Amino acid sequence: MTMKSFHKIWIAPLIVAILMHAPAVRAQTKKPNVIILATGGTIAGAAATGTQAGYQSGAVTIDAMIAAVPGVGDLANIKGEQIANVGSQDMSFDILIKLAKRINDLAKSADVDGIVVTHGTDTMEESAFFLNLTVKTDKPVVLVGSMRPSTAVSADGPLNLYNAVGVAADPKAKGRGVLVVMNDWIQDAHSLTKTSTTAVQTFMSPLRGLVGTANYGKNDFFKTPGWKHTTQSEFDITNVTQLPRVDVIFASLDMSPDLIDCSVANGAKGIVIAGVGNGNINKAAVHAAANAVKKGVVIVRSSRVPTGSVGRKVEIDDDKFGFIASDELNPQKARILLSLALLTKRTPEEIQKLYYEY
Ligand code: ASP
Repeated sequence: MTMKSFHKIWIAPLIVAILMHAPAVRAQTKKPNVIILATGGTIAGAAATGTQAGYQSGAVTIDAMIAAVPGVGDLANIKGEQIANVGSQDMSFDILIKLAKRINDLAKSADVDGIVVTHGTDTMEESAFFLNLTVKTDKPVVLVGSMRPSTAVSADGPLNLYNAVGVAADPKAKGRGVLVVMNDWIQDAHSLTKTSTTAVQTFMSPLRGLVGTANYGKNDFFKTPGWKHTTQSEFDITNVTQLPRVDVIFASLDMSPDLIDCSVANGAKGIVIAGVGNGNINKAAVHAAANAVKKGVVIVRSSRVPTGSVGRKVEIDDDKFGFIASDELNPQKARILLSLALLTKRTPEEIQKLYYEY
């Protein structure tokens, strides 16, 4: 065999093989596009040393945070945008409305496959729930934070951010509502809550459990939350710039009913009571709350107890007083739902229904 015919024999099949595999190779190299919207929090926090408890939230920019996560660019093409840089104790409805509108704009683009929001953990569950009700996309929207600042020994932010990008880039995360990824766990906005002031494993979903797990960019999904969210949600903030005032009042033994009067006098349109047990309050507070209803203020009974739901007419006659029961929503999330519900005129029955659906 001459050298020329030898080449012909192996080059032809090689070309065929390359052509056959070309689409697969192209599909493998086409990475999803993920946008990271940064709002601050401990994940962007910095301290003077790696072992001190005190630090400043929201001190590091999104570009520096992305640079601190080796390999994250293998999961997706990433672009960062700074929406705010605050500790989430200073998160406001102004920032949240801006964030929701930005997500809605980005999600319309065919070039965006998923969105990550970096956020402080203190009020993350409220922001996640707000976005769950107001973003209009089935593309993954994933909130992430950290319990230790970026400068700490064993900072948890970089791996949390890596896993959050992995979930946002995962087509299997679509249609599950707004998710939170922290410490390898994927949880849904309706059910999760912060349970420890300092532990890395702070977020839990006591009643409903995990949506899935995220492990170095590989995800396992166990379920899709059954609550209405995102594309099924009736709440539209396109033209909203402000939300009605809704206060949360914490009930306790021998509570003072005038807290309710004070809230009404200061312009609250709704009050969520973090009641004792199954959303209970003492007789004097029931009387004050019933008076508030007569003045047009919506009263929602939630509970200060971390798990379980609040039912109608268990020990308080909600029909008689015109109260709403929060079902599974804790006081801080019951407040988010009521703030959105009060944007439109609704009967007490209609508001009660929202607590069963969202
Ligand atoms: N105070 C911080 C915040 O919520 C705590 C944290 O992010 O873990 O922004």
